[in-house]
Amino acid sequence: MKTPAQTRRIIDGLDGQHPGADTELRYRNAYELLVATILSAQSTDARVNMVTPALFGRYPDAAALAAAAPAEIEPQIHSTGFFRAKSKAIVGMARALVAHHGGEVPADMAALTALPGVGRKTANVVLGHALGVPGLPVDRHVLRVANRLSIAEGDNPETVEQQLCAALPPARWTVTSDLLILHGRRICKPKPLCDQCAVRDDCDYARALDHERAQKPVRGARGPRRLRTPRR
Ligand code: SF4
Repeated sequence: MKTPAQTRRIIDGLDGQHPGADTELRYRNAYELLVATILSAQSTDARVNMVTPALFGRYPDAAALAAAAPAEIEPQIHSTGFFRAKSKAIVGMARALVAHHGGEVPADMAALTALPGVGRKTANVVLGHALGVPGLPVDRHVLRVANRLSIAEGDNPETVEQQLCAALPPARWTVTSDLLILHGRRICKPKPLCDQCAVRDDCDYARALDHERAQKPVRGARGPRRLRTPRR
């Protein structure tokens, strides 16, 4: 695994390739971001952005959403997928905010993950982007890119979160997650575009791919010619 200094240099490289990564999530407050992040499970940001303006127009805060019935929400978020479970989760979450936190989103990991539909990744998104508390959300992109670059090891999100947090100052945790997610979406896709990658020189995975290619025989190339033994 890379050293903390190497990890910081790689994150600097990604910062140069994806400037403004931390401004991608635009919501007015922690409540809106929390709802949008729950809706984004198994969906895309673009799809979520299509339903949230109308949703937040009707339910501008936790108290308004808490008073709604999940069945009433379902058609409004249908296009984000898993609409029944998500409707239940966001209404349940809003009711818990009203019941236990005065309708406000708590700036605390334990309190956030106790809310219906809120896991560690969602809590870290809200802490880091809306509540000023450093958090490093780990999704599938972070897992894939961090492992390829050897700045973390393993497929357990919490372990990867701990490894990255240990290598970086808290002020860089949230932007590091943003950068790895964007890099995973744009460049380091499942089939990576390594020739467009700013940190290729530091990437063990790209080196292994190059090595593998060098070992493969070129299709159509002839092997060494055999010399025939002349018949007598
Ligand atoms: S060099 Fe390739 S595999 Fe490595 S981080 Fe860049 S895109 Fe991903």
